[in-house]
Amino acid sequence: MTTTDPAGWIRVTAQHGLDLLNLPAEPTSTAGLLITPDWRDSRWTGLYAVVHAASGQVLPYTDLPLVYTREVADQLGRHGIDWTEPTARPTRPSPGSLRNITAAAADAWQRGIPLWWARPSWQACPPLWRLNGIDVADGEDGWISDLDYGPAWTTWRGVVGWLDLTHDDPFTEPLIGTITVSRDQVLSWRLVCAAPLCHDDQPAVAGWFDAEGDFVERPTTDREFLAVTSTELGWRQHGRHWLCPTCAHDHTPNYDRSWW
Ligand SMILES: [Zn+2]
Repeated sequence: MTTTDPAGWIRVTAQHGLDLLNLPAEPTSTAGLLITPDWRDSRWTGLYAVVHAASGQVLPYTDLPLVYTREVADQLGRHGIDWTEPTARPTRPSPGSLRNITAAAADAWQRGIPLWWARPSWQACPPLWRLNGIDVADGEDGWISDLDYGPAWTTWRGVVGWLDLTHDDPFTEPLIGTITVSRDQVLSWRLVCAAPLCHDDQPAVAGWFDAEGDFVERPTTDREFLAVTSTELGWRQHGRHWLCPTCAHDHTPNYDRSWW
């Protein structure tokens, strides 16, 4: 039987303890460094490790959950070391030294947070445009954008686009009566995941389900509403920073203190 490696994998011969293993490896954002499953005492440990491709050496203390191994590999590439060199070693005791980075990663794992925060989670957006009118069906005023989670837009182009779409859509109730357009005085906000490797630098944006069950992902002035809703949907808060459900799962705290 012949097997084919999935696209994106690289084969590497890595020295895990006394064993020389030919393993499939994941490329990292740092040229010359790869990630392989971790191996110890003839068993997979369930963790991952950073391998120096040119020498096949596993970098010590990099046996961590996958997301932390990726973050460590990324950080190791930011301190001027050419990891494609066969003799590359971060020997100097500097902030970029291997020991400092892996110690910081172990600490971050203990706390269930990324090795560093990549961006602020609350991001200010332009004031919202809103439509207000009267719903003839139930006579309630301000039905279009009265609630903060009704349709509202950060751009005039968005307002016009929505009106065009509604006008042309035979399945949408026509707008009746006087519709007024207003613009908020205050900024709107969006909540984004602060994990560095979230969705390949297209970080997740928080949102909510509207009355029709559609997921709405737009800025809002109601930060408390967005915080409560996001928490219910699995987002996790760490002070000013938030992790999306995927990143919160990937950064599950290391409760096993005997690990030290
Ligand atoms: Zn995320």
